[in-house]
Amino acid sequence: MQTLSLNDKNYIIDSIRNISNYPKPGIEFKDITTLLGNPDVFHFLLDHLTSRYESYGLDYIAGIESRGFIFGAALAARLRTRFVPIRKPGKLPYTTISEKYSLEYGVDEVEIHIDAFSHGIKDPKVLLIDDLIATGGTANASVNLINKTGSKCIEVCFIINLVSLRGDEEIKEHTPVYSVLETR
Ligand code: AMP
Repeated sequence: MQTLSLNDKNYIIDSIRNISNYPKPGIEFKDITTLLGNPDVFHFLLDHLTSRYESYGLDYIAGIESRGFIFGAALAARLRTRFVPIRKPGKLPYTTISEKYSLEYGVDEVEIHIDAFSHGIKDPKVLLIDDLIATGGTANASVNLINKTGSKCIEVCFIINLVSLRGDEEIKEHTPVYSVLETR
């Protein structure tokens, strides 16, 4: 498995654009469209993820809407693994199961198709992926959702971890977390 040097990490970080006060004051938005617009960096990142996960024997990669779809589907194609979308409520057309989670104010929900992991595989191994972890609420609910189906989420992967928010702490209590980049 390839480990990233500090230079490698900076190479990826430098391709991500920071937008201050978006979508609201006080938030620094990590804009990964600039990474996607740089084919050398995107390729380099996918090579790294492929080298990490090719020995895991994954049956599925589940991506969280919407930027988790981009990295998850690209990695799934590289690994010849099935891709499953985890979406916001009301977006999936077939019968779904869902998991609610708390926000600062109110609740939100993630959904998956009821037959997302129905390919006759015993105890399917699932990698969950998203572009970024902030509070961790979305990813934690997504892990619970995967495990509720009888599959097992064996790791959660983020391209960027906003470490000062400690969003990975709750997830790490039950599931390994891998973050390519850690930033404040
Ligand atoms: P959370 O549930 O708080 O961990 O939020 C994670 C989701 O919100 C991810 O799908 C991210 O794409 C998005 N998100 C949260 N904060 C940011 C940020 N500062 N920059 C870019 N995306 C963010």
